[in-house]
Amino acid sequence: MLSIKHLNKTYANGVHATNDISLEIPTGLFGLLGPNGAGKSSLMRTIATLQDPDSGSIHFNGVDVLKDKAGLRRQLGYLPQDFGIYPKVSALELLNHFAILKGVTDRGERKEMVEGLLHQTNLWEARKRGVGSYSGGMRQRFGIAQALLGAPKLIIVDEPTAGLDPDERNRFLNLLARIGEQVVVILSTHIVEDVTDLCPRMAMIGKGKVLIEGEPRTAIEAM
Ligand code: ADP
Ligand code: ADP
Repeated sequence: MLSIKHLNKTYANGVHATNDISLEIPTGLFGLLGPNGAGKSSLMRTIATLQDPDSGSIHFNGVDVLKDKAGLRRQLGYLPQDFGIYPKVSALELLNHFAILKGVTDRGERKEMVEGLLHQTNLWEARKRGVGSYSGGMRQRFGIAQALLGAPKLIIVDEPTAGLDPDERNRFLNLLARIGEQVVVILSTHIVEDVTDLCPRMAMIGKGKVLIEGEPRTAIEAM
């Protein structure tokens, strides 16, 4: 359970990107819906401890995230909107390197983890190809494989379906829904269907505020 209370963030340019946001996010796929500029990335970066809020609190499973950032980071898998890609290096090699950086030093354990993730994200056949040759959907699934290294308990995915074709999008969202059966997954998107199709719970934000919250169809109909 991720518990956010009265979170505020105003940037140096005066934009109040996070305006008194409070949210309770249980295990499962949680949709954070909002148009461009609503404050989704700002909120996600704050939860991911990449930027400090001006005020408010964030607790993950009872632990104060702002007081124990390292603790949260160990449990976090974060897929930013534009994640870097090393085009010539294969998915297998990259995941192996990232696993080492995550501290998975045991060879056998690393092999099992990396191969498991390649299967889970349906990239096994393409594991030896440079990731630069991947389609949009394959790149996003590779990003998720990367985010899943180290068995995170909290996964944050920022605008992952932008630019995917319908087939790729479905495959990607189904993968997220499966992952969400066991951990907290926050999916940020400006596409209503991403949320209504698969997220058991959602919040819509606009201009830094929570506008509606709850079960997607009920919440959107109540608008
Ligand atoms: P903070 O208040 O967190 O210190 P700043 O306003 O100083 O944030 O900006 C941090 C960084 O974000 C800077 O590198 C800045 O150039 C960049 N930035 C500024 N305005 C925007 C914007 N509208 N969208 C995205 N990034 C921006
Ligand atoms: P979203 O992810 O929903 O598109 P953002 O969190 O990126 O929204 O942006 C929310 C608002 O904050 C926008 O007005 C954006 O221009 C502004 N903004 C985002 N990052 C920065 C920054 N680092 N510095 C100043 N303004 C920013």
